Amino acid sequence: MIVVADASVFIAGAGAERMVTVRGVLEELSSRDARLRAEVAVSSGRLKVIEPSESHVAKVRRAAKRSGDSARISDTDLRLLALASELAEGGEEVVVMSDDYSVQNLASLLGLRFMPVAEAGIKRRFAWQRVCTGCGRVYPPEHAGKCSFCGSAVKLRRTRERKA
Ligand SMILES: [Zn+2]
Repeated sequence: MIVVADASVFIAGAGAERMVTVRGVLEELSSRDARLRAEVAVSSGRLKVIEPSESHVAKVRRAAKRSGDSARISDTDLRLLALASELAEGGEEVVVMSDDYSVQNLASLLGLRFMPVAEAGIKRRFAWQRVCTGCGRVYPPEHAGKCSFCGSAVKLRRTRERKA
């Protein structure tokens, strides 16, 4: 299994034996501790920095447009999902580790497994999220009312039940 790590993995100090990320994630780490954790992971061989192919970036960008996540997702996170998608196509068992709801939502739409950083043994404020019963869109736990995308009911679920 390879963990595809976004910035929250390094910010929280989570980790795994085999991790990959894209250069943009490391460049955007603003805390010194987070940068140090990433550097140590690279030098110990646990973390590899790989860039996705442009065709996979284009594929994820199209999926983000369709799902309405384009406005909420950074270019770096798009590239990270493209990398996950490319590795999965190559036969790797990948898990996208991220606390970002748009990343989780898109991972799910792309058929990729994802895991909130909370499940890597790190204490976070919420272990719950709301999930639309119609389209599967993920919302933060404080979301009230129906799905703004498809109008279906949104139910509270423990994050560990929400694996693609
Ligand atoms: Zn919905």
